[in-house]
Amino acid sequence: MSSSLQDSACPLYVAGKWIHPQGLGFTPVFNPSRGEVIATVPLCGAAEVNEVVAAAKAAFPAWRDTPPNERAQVLFRLKILLEDAFEELCLGISTEHGKTLSEARGDLRRGIEVVEYACGIPTLLMGESLENIARGIDCHTDRHPLGVVTGICPFNFPALVPMWMWPIAIACGNTFVLKPSEKVPLTMQRVVGLLEKAGLPPGVLNIVHGGRECVDALLTHPDIAAVSFVGSTPIAREIHRKASAAGKRVQAAGGAKNFVILMPDADPDRTIEAVKDAAFGCAGERCMAGSTAVAVGEAGSRLLPGLADLVSSMKVGPTDVRESQPDMGAVISAEHRNRVAGLIDAGEKGGAKVLTDGRATRVDDAPDGFFLGPSVIDQVTPDNPLMHTEVFGPVLTVLRADTLEQAIALANAQAFGNGAAIFTNSGKAAREFRRQVSAGMVGINVGVPAPLAYFPFTGWNDSFFGDLHIQGREGVEFFTQRKTTTTRWFSFGDGEVWAK
Ligand code: NAD
Repeated sequence: MSSSLQDSACPLYVAGKWIHPQGLGFTPVFNPSRGEVIATVPLCGAAEVNEVVAAAKAAFPAWRDTPPNERAQVLFRLKILLEDAFEELCLGISTEHGKTLSEARGDLRRGIEVVEYACGIPTLLMGESLENIARGIDCHTDRHPLGVVTGICPFNFPALVPMWMWPIAIACGNTFVLKPSEKVPLTMQRVVGLLEKAGLPPGVLNIVHGGRECVDALLTHPDIAAVSFVGSTPIAREIHRKASAAGKRVQAAGGAKNFVILMPDADPDRTIEAVKDAAFGCAGERCMAGSTAVAVGEAGSRLLPGLADLVSSMKVGPTDVRESQPDMGAVISAEHRNRVAGLIDAGEKGGAKVLTDGRATRVDDAPDGFFLGPSVIDQVTPDNPLMHTEVFGPVLTVLRADTLEQAIALANAQAFGNGAAIFTNSGKAAREFRRQVSAGMVGINVGVPAPLAYFPFTGWNDSFFGDLHIQGREGVEFFTQRKTTTTRWFSFGDGEVWAK
């Protein structure tokens, strides 16, 4: 490795200190717009995990005993610092991820909203009580932190997904070990710098880096009480299995294939615009991307030509220059671009019709970037290779159905269950869809029905493994355990004690 890349190695953050571990392998971090390596990430194993968890464990008693209102003050200060650094952080997100600046703003804004939500922790932690459950006996239940908890993150939201986890976890009084995606480690590094300025005590939030070996060490570490994971379904399922077997509380959000039902009575212009955004926002690398449309009856002829035209006009390009932003950026890696292009090839061979073809897209001013233009693929059938997997790229696959019932059946036939949306002007169709579709987050004329911080992120089926979801009150429940106290005071006899 060249010395300049060694200089750009991401440090671990342990007990308030930035540490460069020695003797480890590294993996590169790319700027997807340019195809250039901009940093490297150390691949930690059990030894580094032990060190980081020990720091979090040591910090736990004092942080647990810090009043919730004082813990919230750190987050209030962080909120101000995040606002001050907002634009700079967003450009950093665009640079390490490839999403446009406006998408990066959404990524960070949604993350800041979780910080704001966690600022309300004194109220959120309140328990319940009932006086006189029997004569002279009272009962109350309150919430306690779990101890050391960990968060393992995917690449697609460098700010939001980690911030789904640690603001609520630390506000509840836990200490945290964050394992960012090895593809996008830089955003959280910058945010932790702000947390330091906000006065977070050393050891409350720590960062470890790596891949499978690092994650395995976290999942089985005896001092970790809970695991919050977000990533692809095969890994989420495995994380849930391993961490549960190790006796930990687990929430594991997985991949998705979100259906968007287009009804013949949908408002054409607004539907086309919303479906384009749902499918191609963040280059389709969103767990809530509307990746799979079902055109019901005449909806196909009414909506698809206009949609294909709109998508063809999208400008694809580098996102790391503030002044010139495209409509869509690069995908995360050359390997991922090739995988998605290969899926389009296979889909076409399987009988689908390519209405808009992004495979040949080239970007002259960034020839080495990981670009793939947006593609709309029509006449996809359930047995087409595009339907067998989460594509997670700038591809909208379109199926056809004669009725709403058939469209819902197509949506419910696949294993995922994150989001689903319908575009219609019929309240009855919308109500039927909302009731019958087997997905945890539903949009009615909303293409990306991703809940904000105050609501849980309620994936179903193979999109979520566990009981308590991420964010909102379920997030607070996940990061706390209840203690129920039953109290009786014996009478000493009137005035007897005081008289002695
Ligand atoms: P990924 O599953 O490849 O990686 C996620 C994390 O798991 C990373 O930190 C990675 O280092 C770690 N990891 C990878 N392989 C591992 C292994 N064998 N054992 C243990 N840990 C391992 O996911 P990704 O490609 O970074 O992110 C994209 C995926 O995340 C998509 O499937 C997307 O739908 C999903 N996602 C889901 C949600 C949701 O809320 N359901 C939100 C965002 C992203």
